[in-house]
Amino acid sequence: MAKVAPPEELVQIEHRPPDKAWMDIPPEFREGRWCYGSKPKDHKIVDFPNPRDWSPLDEDWKLPENWLEIVLEGMRERLHKYRSFRLFMDICVRCGACADKCHFFIGSGDPKNMPVLRAELIRSVYRGEFTKAGKILGRLAGARKLTYQVFKEWFYYFFQCTECRRCSVFCPYGIDTAEITIIGRELLNLVGCNLDWIMAPVANCYRTGNHLGIQPHAYVSMLEFFSEEIEEITGVTVEPSFNRKGAEILFITPSGDVFADPGTYTCMGYMMLFHYLQDLGLDLTWSTYASEGGNFGYFTSHEMAKRLNAKMYAEAKRLGVKWILGGECGHMWRVVNQYMDTFNGPADFLEEPVSPITGTKFENAKSTKMVHITEFTADLITHGKLNLDPSRNDHLKVTFHDSCNPARAMGIFEEPRYIIKNVCNNFYEMPPNTIREQTYCCGGGSGLNTDEYMDMRMRGGFPRANAVKYVHDKYGVNMLACICAIDRATLPPLMEYWVPEVDVTGVHELVANALILKGEKKRTMDLRGEPLPGMEEEEDEEDV
Ligand code: SF4
Ligand code: SF4
Repeated sequence: MAKVAPPEELVQIEHRPPDKAWMDIPPEFREGRWCYGSKPKDHKIVDFPNPRDWSPLDEDWKLPENWLEIVLEGMRERLHKYRSFRLFMDICVRCGACADKCHFFIGSGDPKNMPVLRAELIRSVYRGEFTKAGKILGRLAGARKLTYQVFKEWFYYFFQCTECRRCSVFCPYGIDTAEITIIGRELLNLVGCNLDWIMAPVANCYRTGNHLGIQPHAYVSMLEFFSEEIEEITGVTVEPSFNRKGAEILFITPSGDVFADPGTYTCMGYMMLFHYLQDLGLDLTWSTYASEGGNFGYFTSHEMAKRLNAKMYAEAKRLGVKWILGGECGHMWRVVNQYMDTFNGPADFLEEPVSPITGTKFENAKSTKMVHITEFTADLITHGKLNLDPSRNDHLKVTFHDSCNPARAMGIFEEPRYIIKNVCNNFYEMPPNTIREQTYCCGGGSGLNTDEYMDMRMRGGFPRANAVKYVHDKYGVNMLACICAIDRATLPPLMEYWVPEVDVTGVHELVANALILKGEKKRTMDLRGEPLPGMEEEEDEEDV
């Protein structure tokens, strides 16, 4: 793990503009602010270009001889293919409204992390290589040529953007710098410049259906282990079904929930909810093949995102289900909500989702046939279908972090809050300019949640952590809820660093704590094995 300065040092951020013009400042690969390069074996698995051993710190990146031609041709193709890209290259008026809205700029003070300047890194090349004015006037028109050094600068700064889209909320023209980053990463990928932390999950997912490369039997074993845990806590035996043909609903969630704390508690939460609903008519199966909701392919190229996304509909078709229910994930929902239908649809073999418990038709999922679990659960609560005891969460003072993708790519603001307020008695909002569509990123999304990148993660996560600290100091908040598996991986170290008194949870962990299962024994502990409020002594007695 990269060494990170203590918080009191890291917070001394220099926001003064540098003395030189930005084009004259070469990229400096600073420790903790870049990620390891991708490995040849992973390139080979998905047939990606230029497999080789390399490091971003190397002088020679071992690019193909004609790299310049490949990248410029790739840019030309994309300027034709994506009207948004061409538009974003042309219309920025450099008003600066986005300049201070990026968490990486706030946390690092590096001007090239201002969204306007991040985009300018590629826009200047667009002008220099593709416009008449740029070709004639050069730097006077803000134009430059694509050089090896400029290419390295792209790598450094397009992997210092989490594609969170916060900046786009403030742009009067609707310029979405995340989309510019996505294209920038595609161009880097054309000559084999990618991250290990992105390519390894991509290759794993392509081989086994999930980012961690877990085989079907290991997936089943993990859920069986959770069943044992649930039985110990509740006395109730929960038996999920796998790969069951003819089930009504297929459930797909990020593998992070199955294999990494605290996501595992969220996974136990899903299992308990589904068990509870069986008696009310839920007919649902898990899949050990479509065993990943997330899509790291989206962090390399649209094409790779499409290839990995294809398994969702393929598995739904194979099992013959009516519709798909999706778990708490971030970018999974961006891909599902904004791309899946055109990537791999239309899914005419599926039906418009209807809750078998309440009869609610999820019209918003008419086209994708995929429903977000917070919509599903909020609907159950609205119809009074869940027997809940929110006091079981009384040891928690909860705030909610809107994960960037469900918030800005889907507009899921109310459902998680509605659920939390029904399963917890203590809920506090962070300041308005840090939540909902203005939410701050965790600092490690879009494949940047690596250990070697820790300095930048702590900087990028600083605005989010600062808002959490505010509600911690003011109301005693000790739990940060979210609906994203990457958040559940990135927020714990962020909290540990900036606000160590605050822990991280998924929403369905809170639901399961409050959910009263039929035939359960007297509950004394929550899903983490911690004593419930008022049960501390009973727990102690049991320990003796
Ligand atoms: S807010 Fe929009 S138009 Fe203004 S500088 Fe940023 S990207 Fe350009
Ligand atoms: S998309 Fe997010 S990380 Fe990227 S420039 Fe905009 S605010 Fe920064």
